[in-house]
Amino acid sequence: MMNTCATHRAPGRKFGLSKIRILDDSLIDKIAAGEVIERPASVVKELVENAIDAGSTRIEIEVHGGGIEYIRVSDNGCGIAEEELVLAFTRHATSKLYRENDLWELCSLGFRGEALPSIGAVARVEVTTSEGKAGAGLKVEGGIITGPWPAAAPRGTSVVVRDLFFNTPARRKFLKTPVTEVNQILDVAVRLAFSNPDISFSFSSEKRTVFKTPGDGSLLNTALAVYGRDFAQKLLPFAGSEGEIKVFGLLGRPELARRNRKGQLFYVNRRSVRNPVLSSALEEGYRGFQLAGERPVAIVFIEIPHSQVDVNVHPQKHEVRFHDEQAVFRAVMRSVREKLNSLQGGWEPGQGVLVNRATERKQIFLSEVMERPAGTEAVMMPECEPMWQEQRIAFDGGAEHVKPVNIFGQWRNSYIICEIEGKLEIIDQHAAHERLLFNEIRSKVGSIPTQELAVTVLVEVPHDTVRRLEQWQGQLEKLGFRAEPFGEKSIVIRAVPEYARNSEVETMLEILEELEEGQNGGDLMDRSCKTLACKGAVKAGQRLTEMEIKELIQRWLETENRGFCPHGRPVSVSLSEKDLERMLKR
Ligand code: ADP
Ligand code: MG
Repeated sequence: MMNTCATHRAPGRKFGLSKIRILDDSLIDKIAAGEVIERPASVVKELVENAIDAGSTRIEIEVHGGGIEYIRVSDNGCGIAEEELVLAFTRHATSKLYRENDLWELCSLGFRGEALPSIGAVARVEVTTSEGKAGAGLKVEGGIITGPWPAAAPRGTSVVVRDLFFNTPARRKFLKTPVTEVNQILDVAVRLAFSNPDISFSFSSEKRTVFKTPGDGSLLNTALAVYGRDFAQKLLPFAGSEGEIKVFGLLGRPELARRNRKGQLFYVNRRSVRNPVLSSALEEGYRGFQLAGERPVAIVFIEIPHSQVDVNVHPQKHEVRFHDEQAVFRAVMRSVREKLNSLQGGWEPGQGVLVNRATERKQIFLSEVMERPAGTEAVMMPECEPMWQEQRIAFDGGAEHVKPVNIFGQWRNSYIICEIEGKLEIIDQHAAHERLLFNEIRSKVGSIPTQELAVTVLVEVPHDTVRRLEQWQGQLEKLGFRAEPFGEKSIVIRAVPEYARNSEVETMLEILEELEEGQNGGDLMDRSCKTLACKGAVKAGQRLTEMEIKELIQRWLETENRGFCPHGRPVSVSLSEKDLERMLKR
């Protein structure tokens, strides 16, 4: 699928070079100085990249204690010859690079010959490897090599790293908790799995398999394995190109959007990168398809001639610089937009007000998306013409009771100004949305639509929160949260109700806290539903598109008790012409 060298991996070593050699000094200097193993995730990255370079089709990653205690990376690649094992742990020994020119055209992930010696210097490492015949083993502890010795092993290499930084306490002190370190490792593993869909990756932590990809070359199947079915179903393959720049990957439906960019993965020539231009281009492509400030979820591959991009050779930085940034921006933005535009009717409108809409309204959404000039505070049409003249909106439950509704716009990104039944209405958008969500949630308790999280969220919490979770797990499940204790001081969140998608952790913890406080009175479920509705509702200060405003008002008009929010505050102020005349003393 992806036309890069890595796809043409031969069964043996990718480079067809079997002898490890020492790099010459001048080249060493050109390579960003000092390979640094910063944390367990960097160990995993280096070991997995070596396994990829070795032509493996199956790679297993196993960690314990956040990778600080134990990391194992096993592959079925070409193996290392016994006589080369010691050399592999010698600084600047590599089988992958011979001339300076190679540096910029390099397909190989590792080319510095520094990873193994660096890891060996700060941990207890054990390697078992075989080229398919007799195998060999070797140990390195704090830089001291023992071995090699003959060892029986299947074809491939298995590296075990224990007690990272055991001999450099200062560095060890900088590590975060095991939970945080595991999350970093998970991020590395996910990135590598997507850039190598033709390799089967498995990742386990504390003896639990987190994911296992099929390695069949399919990005969608990789996503299915990594993120789960519910999530993967909301990803859409796309592809586009502009000149020599090719863009392809998976786009998340707008409803998957998040408040941060953690759901965005970018690759340039199959190398995982972080680059603000790419994120902006993606978000620009989504403009009008979701609320402002939301970050779409997407996995985007960019293939660009090597001559048009500078790759920072420092392996930890994932930085690229494009010679023609504009061209790359356009290519990404247009391919994304083209795909979204082509989905007429196939997408449900994004987030908040627009979840779970009846099917007939899907059509309206895309055809009516309008771009709004940035920076306008209120959306008012010239001469105060209504934005929409919706002559007949059915509300109060029947087609017979159709009332004219005119919507003029949004004021201060917080209030919807409209005319309903001949009266001027100023509607608090948050309160209105909160009310309608609350009614919806209350009626669905027990079968609230949930969403698998893109990446299981691990949260460190105080000890008593873990206990609280155990106590209230059933209640939370009825609300659509799937979470469980994870060790003594953390919890893992696997799925959340759709309503909480933008603040999953915060919402759940808040509900937990309230459950505890509210034990002695009141309707507990009612309180939780209010919190969920409040978190899921659009906020004051949040800009809405015309379509979103219309949806909101339409649904609000169909809502019972719409005059008050679930906490009892009024939702709107209405003024008749008479009221105005009186106030203006006409
Ligand atoms: P680099 O990857 O930059 O060459 P490393 O220190 O990571 O440097 O590895 C040194 C050498 O050890 C590699 O060039 C490769 O020849 C060999 N090697 C390391 N890991 C593996 C593996 N999993 N399978 C086969 N060979 C490996
Ligand atoms: Mg390497």
